Amino acid sequence: MILAVSTHKNPSSPADGYRGRFAPSPTGPLHAGSLVAALGSWLDARKNGGKWLLRIEDLDTPRCIPGADQQIQSQLLACGLFWDDEPTYQSQQQERYQRALERLNVLKYLYPCSCSRQTIANTLHGLGIHTPRNQEQVYPGTCRPKSLEMNSSEVILGGKLAWRIALPPHCQIAFEDLSLGQQSQDLNKQVGDFVLKRSDGLFTYQLAVVVDDAEQGITHIVRGADLLSNTARQIYLQNMLGYATPLYKHLPLVLDKHGEKLSKQTLANQINTQDAQHALAELRKAAQHLGLNELPDSESITIAEWLLAATHAWKS
Ligand code: GLU
Repeated sequence: MILAVSTHKNPSSPADGYRGRFAPSPTGPLHAGSLVAALGSWLDARKNGGKWLLRIEDLDTPRCIPGADQQIQSQLLACGLFWDDEPTYQSQQQERYQRALERLNVLKYLYPCSCSRQTIANTLHGLGIHTPRNQEQVYPGTCRPKSLEMNSSEVILGGKLAWRIALPPHCQIAFEDLSLGQQSQDLNKQVGDFVLKRSDGLFTYQLAVVVDDAEQGITHIVRGADLLSNTARQIYLQNMLGYATPLYKHLPLVLDKHGEKLSKQTLANQINTQDAQHALAELRKAAQHLGLNELPDSESITIAEWLLAATHAWKS
């Protein structure tokens, strides 16, 4: 299967046009890197006269910090990044994900998997395949049955196994990123059959994000470049589920002094939004990172005025 996705037209865009979103995981407050994603996606939506939705991606419950969702919302409000509609929570959409999984199962695309990370690492080691640090292990297909005929959705509902999607033999996904240009990934070589439901019963990010983006009619996904390598998987799932593919724009990552992406794991500091002056200073740093270097630097400007200037300057 060779899939080339056009990013210049989106035949099933909803009638009300552009719909963007910011989808933070509540694993901690916003830091400089997540503010760049928030600001970039907000500016892109506003420049296009579109909607900007807030989705709290709180599926991976062991990693979520209680109260972080509220903290993120307060930080966004302090920065003047108001969202449209009510925020949505992935933890409240389990049935949606289950329905999507069952659809894929009926189509015989899924199989159960009992491999732990260690088993996969050992198998890859045995095959002489070394996975560099920070890179995902390519699933070697250990549990993949010769035929996918034996699965049943009852097992999904009750089982303690992970569920993977079986990729077709050739699965090259090509798409054009609105910022980074032409992209392509061979899913078999770079990812392997990937997990949609984990053995602990949690739905994975890949499945949930695709289902939510489709259900919310998202037309434009503007997010950090750390998520670029997930995009081909998501486009593949959109195709399998019969959803439209949104347009993608990946923004430059903020790195720390060791060249690592800012994250809670690298102990990134939360942005300081204690008052308007500090919030504006954080916004200014984020804007510079996005290449907006000629925005008003007056001390007396309000956040709303500054955001308006930034929206005008944004190249969509
Ligand atoms: N929840 C993801 C994160 O915080 C973002 C998902 C997305 O934008 O697709 O990294």
